[in-house]
Amino acid sequence: MSTDVLHRLPHHLVQEAIDLDRTDPLGARRGEFVTPESVVAYLDGNSLGRPLHVTRRRLVEFMDGEWGERLIRSWDERWMARPLELGDLIGRAVLGAGPGQTVVADSTTVLLYKLVRAGLAAQPGRNEIVADTENFPTDRYIVESAARELGLTVRWIRPDPATGVRVADVVAVVNESTALVVLSHIAYKSAFIADLPAITAAAHGVGALVLWDLCHSAGAVEVGLDDAEVDLAVGCTYKYLNGGPGAPAFAYVNTRLHDRLEQPITGWMGHAEPFAMGESYAAAPGIRRLISGTPPILAMLPVEDMVTLIERTGMAAIRAKSVQLTELVVRIADEALAPLDVEVASPRDPAVRGGHVTLEHPSMEQVVAELWRRGVIPDFRRPRGLRAGMSPLSTSFTEVVMALALVHDVLAG
Ligand SMILES: *Cc1c(COP(=O)(O)O)cnc(C)c1O
Repeated sequence: MSTDVLHRLPHHLVQEAIDLDRTDPLGARRGEFVTPESVVAYLDGNSLGRPLHVTRRRLVEFMDGEWGERLIRSWDERWMARPLELGDLIGRAVLGAGPGQTVVADSTTVLLYKLVRAGLAAQPGRNEIVADTENFPTDRYIVESAARELGLTVRWIRPDPATGVRVADVVAVVNESTALVVLSHIAYKSAFIADLPAITAAAHGVGALVLWDLCHSAGAVEVGLDDAEVDLAVGCTYKYLNGGPGAPAFAYVNTRLHDRLEQPITGWMGHAEPFAMGESYAAAPGIRRLISGTPPILAMLPVEDMVTLIERTGMAAIRAKSVQLTELVVRIADEALAPLDVEVASPRDPAVRGGHVTLEHPSMEQVVAELWRRGVIPDFRRPRGLRAGMSPLSTSFTEVVMALALVHDVLAG
């Protein structure tokens, strides 16, 4: 695609993007990712992150070495430890979590189910779950089915979609009957950031536990699970952690809950002595008991590469660039796209805005289809939302202006 389309935007905004790229302290990181020229702008890193070049070599080395040569011996040598080692790395680099509290396994959906059930099992005598109607479908469905299985009641918060769940919304529904509060830290539609420390404290105030979904937070914003005394958390590794399609999820359980932690899928790999092949289940100590079956070792390699890069870079620098990227989108939308009836459907205050910006227009579905044809890839959220998700380490400011200039081009005709 030619850069002619940039004339659609005010020159000072284009120049600003070029200057931001030139002075970006993380600019060189983009070269570490696979960036084919046919992709003019990738604004969907919040759905599926780009792969890292280093992963290609590491997968081949793994085939030849750990798998091809060490074969079954690798289970003892490395693989049994890996779900917890990678968990600790994610905890340290991304979640603000001390060691021994994070594990990698399953999908987000399955880990969410296991943690919801574990949270409820740790709260005997309480019969309500709090959730919100704007959460991602999987979260709502899992809460519904766990409640049905156990005969519990779901107290639904109906947040203002523009703001997301606020502390007052939670305070209004929790009480001595609340077993568990299940919320997303960052709203997948608007990118609103919930006040994780304050909501966690409010739930604790009535003796409830909190389970945070970090799918849109991990790798985009700083998270401090230990500092906020969060109970349980879960998240994806294929979004901002670039683990690739179907990469396993992570779960966090605060150490103080480990002794009480009972999860429902009691497979042999979460047993205290898996190879004793014992008569009945005895949970492994600590976070390992969340594992059910044989861990997906191969699928952990790309995640290791990305989280290692994140640790080398530091989440503070990553978040700082993320804010600059979303600010640029909001500014271009206000100055150049608002006259074409495009509206910003994400918070304007960057302090409560995550790594993406949702732009709305009645024709957005057709606009996004045309963008995809021309190598510009955001995603579309029904009924009228373009979600511009900018993975800070792999997205340039120039990509942002190219994409939004094309939105202008398509809309203005
Ligand atoms: C992406 C996402 C999921 C995805 O769950 P999978 O089991 O990986 O399909 C769940 N919850 C939220 C909030 C998400 O954004």
